Amino acid sequence: MSNLPEINTPFLLDFLTKLLNTPSPTGYAEAAIAFTEESLKAFPALILARTRKGALTVTWRGEQDEGPRAVTAHVDTLGGMVKEIKSNGRLKLSRIGGFAWNTIEGESCTVFTRSGRQVRASILLTKASSHVFGGEVGEMKRSDDTLEVRLDARTMSASETLDLGIGVGDFVAFDPRVEVNAGFVRSRHLDDKACVAALVAAVKALSDANRKPARTTTLLISNYEEVGHGAAAGIPADVEELLVVDMAAVGEGQTSDEFHASLCVKDSGGPYHHDMSNRLRALAEKNEIPYKVDIYPNYHSDGEVWWNAGANAAVALIGPGVDASHNYERTHTEALVATVKWVMAYLLEK
Ligand SMILES: [Zn+2]
Repeated sequence: MSNLPEINTPFLLDFLTKLLNTPSPTGYAEAAIAFTEESLKAFPALILARTRKGALTVTWRGEQDEGPRAVTAHVDTLGGMVKEIKSNGRLKLSRIGGFAWNTIEGESCTVFTRSGRQVRASILLTKASSHVFGGEVGEMKRSDDTLEVRLDARTMSASETLDLGIGVGDFVAFDPRVEVNAGFVRSRHLDDKACVAALVAAVKALSDANRKPARTTTLLISNYEEVGHGAAAGIPADVEELLVVDMAAVGEGQTSDEFHASLCVKDSGGPYHHDMSNRLRALAEKNEIPYKVDIYPNYHSDGEVWWNAGANAAVALIGPGVDASHNYERTHTEALVATVKWVMAYLLEK
């Protein structure tokens, strides 16, 4: 039998939509960190702080201080950085995070200049027009050399682009194209904003019901996960176990789907902590949370980052199933709600 508090699903979806619409490529995630921080200020029991690296840490005093725990999700996303201003005035991109070039072809984007200006743009093949290039458009291999950023500004040369204030090192954020339809949430960057939203929704549900965690818990809203060092810093050294909340990989051969939360027992970094994973399975069953158990074949999490940084603790990973990850992603509200419940059940576990 479950006695978990009621989840405010409209709040969850509203927070998630706003977070998805807040650009935050790794290295330029401040706006999303600030938005999350602002939302969590509504809960007076939380102590909010920043790491020197810019991540958000949230300390939530539990029923007991012994055996402290941590829970993490990351707010940074895939993105790009201006690598080069081309002689035609367009931009060459360097990728932030791991994605295939074809997944951003045709996407709209925003270039953030050093002075804070935002220039709208789109990402296209260097030979984009079928009327000019014919069959080549379909055949060209997509790469940093064959995709370029076309600015919505009058420029035909490198100097005209420089005059716009654009330079090497400017961040580029891809449009998320968020849509909520029939329970589905379709957007870029559900990895891992879906899970940040799940943590905030769990805090709200527990707080509204006047509940608090069994153990003192640190929530780390990580800001460098996509490049592999997010949770290397920010989790107190006395923390005994870390629950990583990140998307589950959906696709052929996977057990995960968009309607369940998944427990990942192994990914590219090896197995997660067996006992902690088994406790999470027991919690899901006791609380009637729809869940799957899965292995993710091309995946690393902030939990392994913390382990590799020397953490002496148990680490486990759960999260909602996300279809077409690191592409135009999609999940379903049922998976999000299952994740929120699982996080709450974990926080309340004695
Ligand atoms: Zn992720």
